[in-house]
Amino acid sequence: MPRTVSEARHLTRWLITCAWLACAGSAHALNVFACEPEWASLVKALAPQAQVVSATHQRQDPHHIEARPSLIAALRRADLAVCTGAELEAGWLPVLQQRAGNPMVLDRAGGMFFASDHVALIDARAPGGPFDGDVHAAGNPHFQVDPDRVLEVARGLAETLAQVDPTGARAYHQRAQAFERDWLAHVQRWRAQTSPLRGQRVIAQHSSFAYLWRWLGMVQSADLEPKPGLPPTPGHLNAVLKLAQRERPMAVVATRYQDARSARWLAAQLGNETMAIALPTTVDDAQDPQGLVRLFDDLFKQLLNANGGTR
Ligand SMILES: [Zn+2]
Repeated sequence: MPRTVSEARHLTRWLITCAWLACAGSAHALNVFACEPEWASLVKALAPQAQVVSATHQRQDPHHIEARPSLIAALRRADLAVCTGAELEAGWLPVLQQRAGNPMVLDRAGGMFFASDHVALIDARAPGGPFDGDVHAAGNPHFQVDPDRVLEVARGLAETLAQVDPTGARAYHQRAQAFERDWLAHVQRWRAQTSPLRGQRVIAQHSSFAYLWRWLGMVQSADLEPKPGLPPTPGHLNAVLKLAQRERPMAVVATRYQDARSARWLAAQLGNETMAIALPTTVDDAQDPQGLVRLFDDLFKQLLNANGGTR
């Protein structure tokens, strides 16, 4: 018990300060704006309390979305924005940043995280290469389908979360360690599971899965897109068909957000040895902390099925 009036006042002031700090600490959950669902899901894994909005969903093409007012509002109130970078969002993120007027999430500000700053990109080559399938001069930005690069992004993201929200730094680092432990166990399981896919050939649309093929030791024989971002033309499809008749790919692969008609047509020409499949490029549920694990489980299951179909 306080013995003097001054002690009592001191105690009261101390209690008020504590209550205010506790309140301030819990009332403001971190607001995060994710450009793609896979990064929203990764934020939920590292910062479960965060309020996360994803600008795109799994059936949308992340190269092209509209700068809707709701997205501008979401970016305006964000403490942190998490995007792919490497020009993937070049057509819409700058517009959102400009209209949101939030200095925290401008390029090079502390609250703007680009996953591409934390991984090495492939295929940063001049146009005219063998695939000619790169709209992305800075390199291929579709690295979310590479388990090793996802882990590198997770490490970088945990650091950024700790900087943006220092009160939670300890918790972010602990969760990042737990995430890494679990992730490496999944990677070991996926490596064993996918060994039959090594050396298999596929034909795919766009460079969406280039990292995945590399990780699996698979080969993309051809790209269905004659030019990056353009739909397959009959002339190009006939050229790809000739090549496919020689190489006998196990599957023709489109993404879920692409029109799969050309992939189906090509697979049908090749008979029942080749399947047409539409693979996911991101998580189903942006709020699911386990979303990325489920994404790779799903990708590998579908590819193994398609491979089984060729036997
Ligand atoms: Zn692309």
